Amino acid sequence: MLFRQLFDAASSTYTYLLADETTRRALLIDTVFEQCERDRALLHELGLTLTHTLETHVHADHVTAAWRFRQTLGSKIVLSGRSGASGADVYVDDGDVIDAGSATLIVRSTPGHTNGCLTYVTKDLSMAFTGDALLIRSAGRTDFQQGDAHALYRSITEKIFTLPDDCLLYPAHDYAGRTVTTVGEEKSWNPRIGGEASESDFTGYMQNLGLPHPKQIDVAVPANLQCGRPEHGTTADKPTWGPIVRTFAGVLEVDPVWVAEHRSAVTVLDVRETGELAGDLGRIDGSVHIPLGELRARAGEVPRDKPVVCVCRSGRRSAQACAILEHAGVSDVANSPGGMIRWRALGL
Ligand code: FE
Repeated sequence: MLFRQLFDAASSTYTYLLADETTRRALLIDTVFEQCERDRALLHELGLTLTHTLETHVHADHVTAAWRFRQTLGSKIVLSGRSGASGADVYVDDGDVIDAGSATLIVRSTPGHTNGCLTYVTKDLSMAFTGDALLIRSAGRTDFQQGDAHALYRSITEKIFTLPDDCLLYPAHDYAGRTVTTVGEEKSWNPRIGGEASESDFTGYMQNLGLPHPKQIDVAVPANLQCGRPEHGTTADKPTWGPIVRTFAGVLEVDPVWVAEHRSAVTVLDVRETGELAGDLGRIDGSVHIPLGELRARAGEVPRDKPVVCVCRSGRRSAQACAILEHAGVSDVANSPGGMIRWRALGL
């Protein structure tokens, strides 16, 4: 199974990518609205087809990207039938199976943080995705949504602590950079429910956390009750001047064939060294030339009346040129991937 752990720094949320390496079919657990493009780029670069997005619960601290993935990639939205959310494709409950080859997951119902909290467990019981039920050396708060510390105690002890001691546990969040734990570790060391903690020890702890109200709750919960569908039903997160994609590395790229076909609609900025321009790869007619090493100082010379497409020999230096121009306030800028080498290979 292919596995990746992704992080959203704004909400300290982990998103998990699981895929069957043979069929290339993939699942995403707990996506984040603002990270949709990042995740889409990774799926593309790894050659994966997203079949499902899974929620561990209706989150109060970020909006899911489930709806966005369905709109753009056609994936199915999976959520607990007890979540109270509308608009999902598959409502699951305890014992249900999300069939994804070697990435297949079994659902365990683990309410307490919310009514609809789920833990997803791999078939071989080697990994579990606990959402906010059990966190690393912590547990999800039980003082809002349908929080119930008694129910959470039973969920953790009966549905998570009954997994093998070496089962790896991946939570929905960590606020201290910890990435993974095991059942055995949490049984021993979890300060809320580990060791000899009884149900009343746990509920006493949970009822006295004194945490502030989550900043995002008034926005996040209503949106997540619709699987992350924005109120107006659209998202305008992508540049509209051309077929722009952002890579997993964060670089905006535009298809060179499109550039050749729309040559008059853009400014092409060549950032190679002067000596390279006379070489075999040639030069795009009408391109502006500023070597990369001079671009920071000369960014003001770049025309701003049209979107800027950066090019170099192989597309590496021009990616850095895009970053420099974005920093200098040029909003419509993209790299020509593969540079002049690809431009020539495509016969442009
Ligand atoms: Fe939560």
